[in-house]
Amino acid sequence: MSSEWVHTHLPCPNCASSDAYSINDRGWGRCFSCGVNIKEDEDGEPSKPRGKQVATDKPLVPFGEYRALSKRKLTEETCKKFGYFIGSFKGELVQVAPYYDEEGKLCGQKLRFANKDFRATGELKRAVLFGCLLFIRLSRA
Ligand SMILES: [Zn+2]
Repeated sequence: MSSEWVHTHLPCPNCASSDAYSINDRGWGRCFSCGVNIKEDEDGEPSKPRGKQVATDKPLVPFGEYRALSKRKLTEETCKKFGYFIGSFKGELVQVAPYYDEEGKLCGQKLRFANKDFRATGELKRAVLFGCLLFIRLSRA
């Protein structure tokens, strides 16, 4: 039985690729560039039994600051463009990638910790392609 990719051509949270990352219908993300596999569990706790709808009001990480991420070859400008910011999650500095739903509302975030752990907030499942909002903004301008 093969799984289907429900989100494709996403920017990879682990490497510099802007479109090699996909998420399948089982909630696994995979990058075809660097090969990373990430469980897109909304709790960030893969061992937890699923089935029950997770609460939708997971707290989102508040905005911190835009900063150039030289290791990932992201300039401050690029980070700003994609709303990719540095915030604080339970006292730890995290890189936060915002995800938006079809109406352009922030519906989730992907957090990347310094130790390369990942965690998701909100409802990433409802999110449309990362970067879409940018397009929506531009097309409405
Ligand atoms: Zn990658």
